[in-house]
Amino acid sequence: MSFLAVIGHPVAHSLSPLMHNSTLWLYGLPHIYLAIDIHPFKLGETLTSLWKLEFIGFNITIPHKEEVAKIAVELSEEASMTGAVNTTVRHSDGWIGFNTDVEGFITSLSRIGVKTIDTCLLLGAGGSARAVVYALDKMGTRMIIIANRTMERAIKLRESMMPKISSRLQIVSLEDVNRFVPKAELVVNATPVGLVEEKLLFDPNNLESYHVVYDLVYSHRSTPLLRAAMKRGCKTIDGVIHLVEQGAASFKIWTGITPDVSFMERVVRNELWRRWKRSGAS
Ligand code: NAP
Repeated sequence: MSFLAVIGHPVAHSLSPLMHNSTLWLYGLPHIYLAIDIHPFKLGETLTSLWKLEFIGFNITIPHKEEVAKIAVELSEEASMTGAVNTTVRHSDGWIGFNTDVEGFITSLSRIGVKTIDTCLLLGAGGSARAVVYALDKMGTRMIIIANRTMERAIKLRESMMPKISSRLQIVSLEDVNRFVPKAELVVNATPVGLVEEKLLFDPNNLESYHVVYDLVYSHRSTPLLRAAMKRGCKTIDGVIHLVEQGAASFKIWTGITPDVSFMERVVRNELWRRWKRSGAS
């Protein structure tokens, strides 16, 4: 038996153990996927332990993605361009780092037939926004308009990504964002807004049926943004699709198998529903 894991802090809420253990079971693979909570102070020594225990690889979530990128002996193009690693695989002399959020984003769009985007409005400038920017650049996007609550963070993202990509990056304030919705054909929410609150970062009346709306937030039901987008006749992609597609890309790196994403999606949606029911929320 060999081990896989997701490391993060916190990590107990992660759906990855259930998603990957179910998929490992589906293919009869003798591996176990764990959730390991690692305090940032303990990252180095824990990674040494994972190495000694012969882990095949692991996923990485907040706050370790950038640190693991520094520790990896080799980086995929996506990991190197984003400076963030969400998947590692064991190699003879250390961990090789990948960023499957990039592939997950592109594959999710291609599921609904979207292969190119001219202009995107991106809400958020955190870790996942960075992967979205690089994915859009790979798709040949001409203009990415970034709106973030904290302007400095958006500026930092632009400064670090601009030398590496061909897409133009424009920064706008969240207060101004309504003006930019009609200019974009894709709107991406890379903030947690909508997860617990019935809140949107812009007026959905600015959405038209030509828009594609992609919300990275995942929940047992559609987020307020996606519900509003559906009402306006837009095509939508939710965070579960993203979670599953990035997870499928990691699974392939570890096992060589292209997994059944519809099976993975069912596992995740059932679990979100079960957790919601258990929470007693209405
Ligand atoms: P992150 O690095 O912490 O960045 C969070 C971003 O959201 C920042 O730009 C932050 O703005 C903004 N933000 C936070 N609270 C806000 C609020 N109340 N109003 C406006 N903006 C707010 O997180 P991340 O890793 O990029 O993740 C962002 C979201 O995507 C999370 O909800 C996460 O669960 C989701 N996600 C989903 C998947 C998936 O597989 N579906 C994968 C990755 C991420 P400031 O700079 O002003 O703080």
